[in-house]
Amino acid sequence: MLDKIVIANRGEIALRILRACREMGIKTVAVHSTADNNLKHVLLADETVCIGPPASNESYLNMPAIISAAEVTDAVAIHPGYGFLSENADFAERVDSSGFIFIGPPAQAIREMGDKVAAIQAMKAAGVPTVPGSDGPLDDNPEENMRLAREIGYPVIIKASGGGGGRGMRVVHAEAALTSAITVTQAEARAAFGNETVYMEKYLEAPRHIEFQVLADNHGNAIHLGERDCSMQRRHQKVIEEGPAPGITQKQREEIGERCVRACQELGYRSAGTFEFLYQDGQFFFIEMNTRLQVEHPVTEIITGVDIVREQLRIASGEQLSLTQEQIIFRGHAIECRINAEDPKTFIPSPGTLSLWHPPGGPGIRVESHCYSGYTVPPHYDSMIGKIIAHGADRHMAIARMRNALAEIVVEGIKTNVPLHQEIFQHAAFRTGGTDIHYLEKRLGL
Ligand code: ADP
Repeated sequence: MLDKIVIANRGEIALRILRACREMGIKTVAVHSTADNNLKHVLLADETVCIGPPASNESYLNMPAIISAAEVTDAVAIHPGYGFLSENADFAERVDSSGFIFIGPPAQAIREMGDKVAAIQAMKAAGVPTVPGSDGPLDDNPEENMRLAREIGYPVIIKASGGGGGRGMRVVHAEAALTSAITVTQAEARAAFGNETVYMEKYLEAPRHIEFQVLADNHGNAIHLGERDCSMQRRHQKVIEEGPAPGITQKQREEIGERCVRACQELGYRSAGTFEFLYQDGQFFFIEMNTRLQVEHPVTEIITGVDIVREQLRIASGEQLSLTQEQIIFRGHAIECRINAEDPKTFIPSPGTLSLWHPPGGPGIRVESHCYSGYTVPPHYDSMIGKIIAHGADRHMAIARMRNALAEIVVEGIKTNVPLHQEIFQHAAFRTGGTDIHYLEKRLGL
């Protein structure tokens, strides 16, 4: 088993990784910026290394500083968490060539999945259903592109192959707008991602976002842990996630899950990963793969009993997956609310000192947060300060428990989105389940 690792992240996920390490007897090195001296995991880690000033590009994105921290502390591996350098193939490669283990997939798999055209082609080859589209880069032949769009059927969406974070996409409703939309998206993609390759897909008008969690080891074993529904979004940011996805049958789960597993094996994938799909009219359409641990991983942990971070650490140390597909049993329903330091109406970030932090508890409630009374949320990073995950025998019970938890949590000194969650949990459509990705923005009048 790994002896000592660097946790190259901050906030709740760094604490989550630290807790898994402690359980497993792995020593921890917390690397942090000067704004994060008082982060909970920094206070708990075996060793700490300050890697730079508050700005992320000088600290949490500073590859040489992070690798040096591993060198000076004699760590053997680096866990990138999510965000920051977690999906940076160059970083994975540099970690590897510096003699450390990157706790994640091989650099090649990160690179391939980061190129969406390549990812879609790999999925098609593995039998994973994709969105009807160009199946490759668009060239500069307007007649050919118009023919293709007519064949796919309007509306279509033009997407940058190197895009991410919901950027580099344009919906086209009619032929008159097609050619200029392609040109503009290419120019934007060149400027934003240094890669002007764009492709075309059918634009699905009211899909749900459903994603499959996978785990793969170095010995050719891969399993899926079922799906999560993450359709409750605002500006492509997930707000609430749940599993299982309402209305998805065991047969659909097995069929799509098995194809994701096959794709992992064909890609030579390793570690945790997520296949994201749009789901509409009873069909799944792959859109992209996330080659890292996700914010919402606890939803899956709770309904399967599998500790995904522990599995990542075991896989990185060369062990086999601890479970086979047949041993994965889904129990009950889990829902996660992301707690953000922000105004619940304007969504403006609300950093500052927590004069009081009182987390909820009770049966079926898990809280993942680095917050404590007296902690100051710095203004430099993402506004998410924690997650509440509720588990129940069924969706109804999970909702009831989450409503209790949202009524119990007390956060003073800063504003949070707890009132927004409380409101969503009263919506009849949410309580029924299966709302699409535009539901929340429509309800908010955006
Ligand atoms: P990113 O890497 O930027 O997150 P994705 O390919 O995951 O890009 O797409 C982000 C979001 O854009 C999706 O969650 C969905 O809301 C929307 N989207 C992408 N492709 C389509 C499509 N073909 N039809 C409808 N919406 C789409």
